[in-house]
Amino acid sequence: MRRPFVVIGLGRFGGSVTQELIRQGAEVLAIDRDDAKIEAFREHVTSSVVADATDEKVLKELGVHEYTHVIVAIGNDIEASILTTLLLSELGVPDISVKAQNDYHARVLTKIGADRVLHPERDMGTRLAHNLMSKNIIDYAELSGQLSVMEMTVDEHKCGGTIGALELRRKYHCAVVAVCRNGTFFSSPPMTEVIKKGDILVVLGLTKDVYQLEQAMA
Ligand code: ADP
Repeated sequence: MRRPFVVIGLGRFGGSVTQELIRQGAEVLAIDRDDAKIEAFREHVTSSVVADATDEKVLKELGVHEYTHVIVAIGNDIEASILTTLLLSELGVPDISVKAQNDYHARVLTKIGADRVLHPERDMGTRLAHNLMSKNIIDYAELSGQLSVMEMTVDEHKCGGTIGALELRRKYHCAVVAVCRNGTFFSSPPMTEVIKKGDILVVLGLTKDVYQLEQAMA
């Protein structure tokens, strides 16, 4: 059986991913070439190693190919990030996620076998911009280029009406896939569900349609 997670690079991004995985009870092997970083995480992770991830021999010795998910969170050193991703791909790691610095880096990563290319700064910028568009937009994420999900509240005068009455499906081809009420989510709400004050609706749709809905809310 494969072990779950390896995080390579414990900078701000890799460090946060590692902390969250641990918080959720996952086993994590952490690798960083900087021993101060490893020291800071040593007590929290399942195992940690000071190593250079661009060294194929080291990756093999650590048995990185026996893990299911490897997250490459090497920051500014693009060459190291690319070489590490290539080695992981050649070693047959099934799921490789890599933080990209820019679009060119992202294109190379996709070509050499990254399953998921992450742009944390860009994505945060996008989320903030959507959040600022309207006080009703709580959160926004593009699931793929074509599909987006948005968390929104409704104006107070629409509370007491039903989800169906918002006509999101007819007007914007968007579906309310879940509702968060008093901190608890329930999925697939019926159209007859009455919206209460403070409800957060989770809306799914094509990115262009979610954009139209956003424009209408701005
Ligand atoms: P962030 O912007 O996420 O903070 P950083 O560039 O500050 O990114 O951190 C990246 C981390 O990756 C650093 O802790 C660095 O020591 C580590 N790192 C960089 N290159 C390698 C490598 N070849 N092998 C292992 N760790 C590396």
